[in-house]
Amino acid sequence: MKSFQVADFNAPLKEVDAPTPEPTGTQVLIRVKAAGVCHSDLHIWEGGYDLGHGRKPLSLKDRGVSLPRTMGHESAGEIVAFGPDAKNETGGLKVGDVVLVYPWLGCGKCETCRGGDENMCVVKPNLLGVYCDGGYADHMTVPHPKYLLDLKGLDPVTAAPYACSGVTTYSAIKKVENVMHTPIVVFGAGGLGLMLLSLLKAMGGKGAIVVDIDAKKREAAMAAGALAAVDGKAPDALEQLAKAAGGPIRAVIDLVGSAQTTQLGFDCLTKGGKLVIVGLFGGGAPWALPLIPIKAITIQGSYVGNLRETQELLDLVRTKNVAAIPVTPLPLAKANEALLDLQKGKLVGRAILTP
Ligand SMILES: [Zn+2]
Ligand SMILES: [Zn+2]
Repeated sequence: MKSFQVADFNAPLKEVDAPTPEPTGTQVLIRVKAAGVCHSDLHIWEGGYDLGHGRKPLSLKDRGVSLPRTMGHESAGEIVAFGPDAKNETGGLKVGDVVLVYPWLGCGKCETCRGGDENMCVVKPNLLGVYCDGGYADHMTVPHPKYLLDLKGLDPVTAAPYACSGVTTYSAIKKVENVMHTPIVVFGAGGLGLMLLSLLKAMGGKGAIVVDIDAKKREAAMAAGALAAVDGKAPDALEQLAKAAGGPIRAVIDLVGSAQTTQLGFDCLTKGGKLVIVGLFGGGAPWALPLIPIKAITIQGSYVGNLRETQELLDLVRTKNVAAIPVTPLPLAKANEALLDLQKGKLVGRAILTP
């Protein structure tokens, strides 16, 4: 089995050859066919998040991420073998089936996990590709078949991103679903932004006004059906947003999460509006506190999504024929280059490693 691992934070990934594991207990062995390179992999690789205000960066090492680690939480592949205790719990899956791996695992035992929100577990997060090994490899093991979602004819290369960018945007849209009949302002037209545009349409939303400082990404957003695209750095960005919306802006989804984007997002909202922050770019909160009650703004964080939402998303993709986001398939050996390109902001759409 070949994998590309983070051996040291910020150092190039290390190519590792090891025996292919035998699944034990309820584990399932997957032959990886697709592993999306996600922006949050950059944070894992770099070892933390910028918290702004001159604070010490949030360190992933302090939060229990140990090295070496195989990243990759957007994985799809073929079932190779079930562990001895998984055979009666396959949920109808069989060897050879092509599945999406749900990666946002928790302890599996606490009230939050048992309630179906393993992604919100604080007892012991076991996120695949973060705390446990993920898909930057030709094989990976998954602790239980219940985390495998049958792709039933969907292309694993374009479906892999549903495990992260897909369910992240789906869950964020669900948080503003009640005002989806009005234009939603969306910050960021990278992989997440393009995914959001197609999901919003499939869910029956009016559409999104996309904000991005990169002209190429604004073009990609327009091509993907955005109602309008605004340069967040333009001095009149706020006026442009108001004009494009043609009415009060009730919801903002910020897929960037910088001081600049959350400021503009906050400022463009009408009274009672909601700002959903998804992106982890980092920095300090920029709002004047009295304006939060005066404008009665709701600020809500959204972190990936749960297993049920991931299944709902796959069902939506199938029933509404959601168009796949643009992907760039790359051989596994290009894992380092893909990360560097992402760091430089050179990628439009999603890089997918195809071991
Ligand atoms: Zn991700
Ligand atoms: Zn838990």
